[in-house]
Amino acid sequence: MNIHEHQAKALLKEFGAPVARGVAVFSPDEAAEAAGSLPGPVYVVKSQIHAGGRGKGRFRELPDDAQGGVRLARSVEEVGEFAREMLGNTLVTKQTGEAGKQVNRLYIEDGADIKSELYLSILVNRETGKTSFVVSTEGGMDIEAVAEETPHRIHTMDIDPDRGVTGEEALRLCKALELEGEAKEDGMELFPRLYDAFVSKDMSLLEINPLVILGNGHLLVLDAKISFDDNALFRHPDVEALRDLGEEDEKEIEAGKHDLAYIALDGSIGCMVNGAGLAMATMDIIKLYGEQPANFLDVGGGASVEKVTAAFKIITSDSSVKGILVNIFGGIMRCDVIAEGVLQAVEEVGLNVPLVVRLEGTKVAEGKKLIDESDLDVISANDLDDAAQKIVAAVRAG
Ligand code: GDP
Ligand code: MG
Repeated sequence: MNIHEHQAKALLKEFGAPVARGVAVFSPDEAAEAAGSLPGPVYVVKSQIHAGGRGKGRFRELPDDAQGGVRLARSVEEVGEFAREMLGNTLVTKQTGEAGKQVNRLYIEDGADIKSELYLSILVNRETGKTSFVVSTEGGMDIEAVAEETPHRIHTMDIDPDRGVTGEEALRLCKALELEGEAKEDGMELFPRLYDAFVSKDMSLLEINPLVILGNGHLLVLDAKISFDDNALFRHPDVEALRDLGEEDEKEIEAGKHDLAYIALDGSIGCMVNGAGLAMATMDIIKLYGEQPANFLDVGGGASVEKVTAAFKIITSDSSVKGILVNIFGGIMRCDVIAEGVLQAVEEVGLNVPLVVRLEGTKVAEGKKLIDESDLDVISANDLDDAAQKIVAAVRAG
């Protein structure tokens, strides 16, 4: 689960991290009022969407002189003006994809006098099985480019979970970030606090880009992105309360209600598969034959007819789906349950696209019989290869 920048900053502030004063708002009037409550004379108007790269992002609806998802304003009036321009419009950034994201809330923040921009993140390092800090003096711009062009400027440091961030580690981080004077003193306090926040809130990613050194020499968290481990959310009702469903894919929300492992993708072939490995293989083979999957979906082991029905409905509700491939290798999952779920869903919502079904394994004869005896227009397939070729051909013919 992801949260907005302003929520992330409020959370980090609880752990003692330095953040600027700011107010989250939903209307131009609120924006101007918020600016009035800040010292000024410079304010930052920041789009709150669950995607990075906002500063360099572009609003589809706005002219060239009103661009950027993060804008510096020099008066309360200007804050109101920018808010009027930004709210309700669609911001396209490197991370949103072409569709962009509608900006429904802004964060009005006290403007900071920036001397330099650094990069800091904490993440779960799957290679070492530890929590790692990743830091660089090259903050602000996109870190992927730094990683590619000047990888020696990125420093990774594992943290021993038994010891946490000791003075020694904090010092090494200060050194890697070339912090001196007040900034170094701030860093020595900040790094253990960030680690503490990361661990105690079960985060999977905490990214501060940029962490800045101010004109007065102190550190400030200027941007913050946090992702939480979904499997640990039950331990953190306070975090769960920050969820903004407006930022999430509706189909994924629906899938979550039925406990389905579903991820929406950009392609045209909807997939219903059991088992994550088979789902990955199915996506691969669709690509091999030249089309793209519209989703990843693992209906799991012992799925019920209701769950299968829900899954099928989610796939058919996606207007970019031009064909559906059901690929089931029955083990714990029974083929007849899948067949029944598909038939029930089709009965409820209809079917306007070609459907290829490949069933194998437990209760396959019963499953095939159910489908054969229905008046459903199904293309059956013998194996994975056959199934992929058939759905690709069907989608192309349509
Ligand atoms: P992102 O583009 O989504 O990563 O949004 P950020 O919050 O990182 O802001 C993008 C850029 O806007 C930063 O790298 C800064 O250069 C600039 N910026 C943000 N806040 C301030 C501020 O208070 N003062 C100044 N001068 N620049 C800011
Ligand atoms: Mg940023």
